Parts: sequence; structure tokens; C-alpha cells
Amino acid sequence: MRGTMMDFPLTLPTILERAGKIFPRVEIVSRRPDKSVVRTSYGEFYRRARRLASALTKLGMQPGDRVASMMWNHSGHLEAFFGVPCGGGILHTLNLRLHPHEIAAIVKHARDRFLLIDDVLLPAYEKFCDGAYFEKVIVVPYGCNTVSEGFLNYEHLLADAGDDFRYPPIDENDGAAMCFTSGTTGFSKGVIYSHRALVLHSFACGLAEVFGMGLFDTVLPVAPMFHANAWGLPYACTMLGSRLILPGPNVDPESILDLMASERVTIACGVPTVWIGVLDALEKNPGRWKFDSPIRVVCGGTAPPLGLIRQLDPFGLQIKHLWGMTETTPIGTSGGLREHMRDWPDEKKYEVRAKQGWPAPFVEIRLMRPEGEAPWDGVTSGEIEIRGPWVVASYHDSPDQAHRWSPDGWFRTGDVATMDEDGYVKIVDRAKDLVKSGGEWISSVDLENSLMGHPAVKEACVVGIPHPKWQERPLAAIVLKDGTSATAEELRTFLAKTFAKWQLPDAFVFIDAIPRTSVGKFKKLALREQFADWKWE
Ligand code: AMP
Repeated sequence: MRGTMMDFPLTLPTILERAGKIFPRVEIVSRRPDKSVVRTSYGEFYRRARRLASALTKLGMQPGDRVASMMWNHSGHLEAFFGVPCGGGILHTLNLRLHPHEIAAIVKHARDRFLLIDDVLLPAYEKFCDGAYFEKVIVVPYGCNTVSEGFLNYEHLLADAGDDFRYPPIDENDGAAMCFTSGTTGFSKGVIYSHRALVLHSFACGLAEVFGMGLFDTVLPVAPMFHANAWGLPYACTMLGSRLILPGPNVDPESILDLMASERVTIACGVPTVWIGVLDALEKNPGRWKFDSPIRVVCGGTAPPLGLIRQLDPFGLQIKHLWGMTETTPIGTSGGLREHMRDWPDEKKYEVRAKQGWPAPFVEIRLMRPEGEAPWDGVTSGEIEIRGPWVVASYHDSPDQAHRWSPDGWFRTGDVATMDEDGYVKIVDRAKDLVKSGGEWISSVDLENSLMGHPAVKEACVVGIPHPKWQERPLAAIVLKDGTSATAEELRTFLAKTFAKWQLPDAFVFIDAIPRTSVGKFKKLALREQFADWKWE
């Protein structure tokens, strides 16, 4: 016998309608490029997002059409997050930090029809527009309030659109948003998030074990809205009525800290490199920023080192670990302590907090090895395979990528991890970032974590470099904190307290900055190339 409940679709218009009616006074704060602050509300956002849907429909947007956005984190982008899909289109957020050639290739692959772009980003558009064609380019007067000839003015379109928009029929499995992967593992691939996936993911964001966000929170997504939809927060805040702070292009440590203090942020999210910079600023300016209560800093993209977690705690910034991918919308696992750990010694608690956490509800994970599934014993590692309602089932138009799914339909992540009996995942490495020394594997992540716990080390990145005898040996690239010093020998001795001799890096190079990917992660590929011909002693 079937249940007697309604088959009610899980779609974004329902979230938008509710936000407009239930949370009209909740504030959305955006910062412009000149750092001035613009305050609006979910009530105003609701009207404008519907007007955008109406305007795009009048311009000819058909169900399933891709509308690209090249925008910073601000309320106009939030309007696009809802206006495009609620009008039946798919919002394709472009990663503005990619090379113009890559952007043009992605636009073509996605077959984007229209582009929404911040006025201040038009110089970036000029660089890729020869390789990519849009039927309409709509400019958002975000920075300077003037829109040049030849472009449509976003504000004029909204002013001309009525308030009588009627949503088109939308199936919950229709596409709503599209992101291309950040290309850490080769050429970017397109992921299309369905309405249903985004709605369920937003429920998950509210859970205490994930972001734990709700009506009393002020949320600051530092992660760009083009990186896995700022980790789903714009949708979740709108559904859950959280006050939203959108930082615009200024995401340097001081600007972030200013915003966190002045807007009384309770939850922030971003990659570890952001918080490494924030820690540095806090240490250099004691007492400059004061927070009323601890701030939950949700951190992922790469593993936040244990030392960073420990050093941010006294400043009231409590790191909470999140692991995920563009392909998983992105929440896969999230971390923290459990009830039975309450009285554990501090050091053991930090070790737990440095793990990636356990799978979110409805996310299933298994660790695969050539000989089969690895046990959850905290020791045996295997590649993470994942499935769930917000996990990608195929890439956009990429039949050559079918090998990324197992024969029984799980997505192969390329991340290698262990899991323990409580379900905590610990990422050992990306499959290709493990250092293969002799027949043994060395985890670059463990070495980096330890090195970043050294008082003189600001950043550390370990890569495997070809070696005539051992196949590969680890090389550690180190950025020291200003005004400190450390020698290779000191760092080796420091690591030797925790690692076996054969696991220690054979070379330490001191550099000014570690190359970053477009979303702020360490670019290991660039380091591997830079030191490919390293002369081992
Ligand atoms: P992206 O699609 O750009 O979000 O990249 C996804 C990849 O980032 C994952 O496959 C992991 O390799 C890495 N990643 C994300 N979160 C974490 C984390 N908390 N710890 C370690 N690696 C992470």
C-alpha cells in the first residue's frame, strides 16, 4: 500500500515565496567594491527576484536555458540564484578567476544564452568575449552605476518588469543551477543541480551537525557564489530565514574581520587559506576585533590543519570541518565532537575536529580498494565512493567521464580516506597527491598538518617529486610567518616527533607564497612542475 501523502514538488519557487512572506524584514547586507554597505531585505529581494524571472522570460528565456552569471557575492547575485531558476532557467555561475580561454570553453560547453555580469567585471568579459557568444549581456550596476552602450541594464529590465509574474511549471528534477568543477583534477566538468537537490541540501545545512544555522544566525559566505554555490548557503539562508552578509570582492583578512565584527556574524564559511590569513591578522593586531560570542567558521575545500583550529579557538573563531565537492552540492561530511567525547583531553578533541567528520543524512560513503570495501577501522584507507540525493549522477554532456561512476552507480571521488567505527572520515589525500616512496604511500596532508603546527610556519605544502631510487620523495614548500625563522633541519626534527624517518620530507624549500587555484586551494600541480627536476642529494 502506498502512503497517503501529497506528491509535492521540492522546487525553489516555494522557498522564494516563503521568504517573501515569512521573512520580509530579515536583512541582506552587501558590500560594494568601495566597501560601502547596502542593506536590503528578503521582502525586497523577493520582489526583485520575481521581476528578474519575468524580465528574462520576456527576453525569451525558455525552460532549461542556461543563463551565466559573472558576479561577486552580493544581493544582485542572490536575485539571480532565484530569479533564473524560478523562471525555468538554469543559473550557470562562472568562475571569474579562471583563464579567459577556459571561461570561453566552459561557456560554449554549457551553451549559455545570456550573461548577467557586474559592471566592475566587464574588463574580464572583454578578455573572453571573442571566444564566447551570448545573445544578451545584462550588466548589473554594482560598482559605478553606469552601463555602457551595447549592453542591457539590469536595473532598467527590473524596473520595466511587472509584479504579476507567474511561475512556469517546474519538475523537481529539472536543473536549477550549474557549476563547473574547479579543475583540480584536469579539465572542468559541468554539474547541474536539480531543484530537488538544492532544496534537500538546504534542509541539511540547517542541521546542527552541518552548519547548524537558522533564524538567529547571521551568515557570511566568504566562499565565492561561483564555488559550489557558496556551499549552498544562499539557498539555505533564504529557506531558513538567516540574515545574510555578502562581502563583495574584498575578501582580504582585515576586510573579513571588519565585517564579522561590525555585522555580528555568527557563521562564516571559506577555504583554509582564508582563515590562515585571518589568523595572521588577528595575531598581528591584538584586541583590534572583538566578537560578542564565538563564531562558527565552517571550513573545507582542503583540510584545515589542526594547528589552525587550535590557534583560532582563543580568538573565538571555532573551525568546523566540512568535506565535499562541486559534485556533491557540496556537503558530503561535516565534523565536530560527539557527546561521548565531552571529557576527552584537549589534544584528542583537536584530533577529532581535524577529521572531516561523518556523512550527512542521506549521504552514503564507502571506501573502495582493489580487493573490495575497506573496513571502518580508522586505519585501512580506500577511495571514497559516495551516493545520495544531492550527489552528481552524470556530468553535463561528457560521455567520456562514465568511468567516474562505479558499475552500481556510486560516484568515485578520487579522495583517499580512512573511516573509523563512529563513521568519521579522515582524508589521507587526493589519490594523485599521495607520495609514492618505494612501495609505500606517504600522506602529504598529514605532513602539511604537522608542519603548520610549527610556530614559525604560516603555510606548508608537500608534494611528491620524482626520485631516481624511490620513485618519488616528499618535498615541503614552506612559507614562514613574518619576523620568524626556521631551518630545514629544525623542521625535520620537529616532524620526527610524529613521523617515521622514511616519511620525512627530504627537501624543504622556503618560498614567499604557495601558488593557489582559482578557489584559493594550494596548487600542488604547479609546485610539482616547478620542482620536477629537483636534484636530490
Ligand atoms: P571542489 O569541487 O573544488 O570543491 O573540490 C573538491 C575536492 O576538494 C575534494 O574532492 C577534496 O579533494 C577537497 N576537499 C574538500 N573539502 C575538503 C576537506 N575538508 N578536507 C580535505 N580535502 C577537502
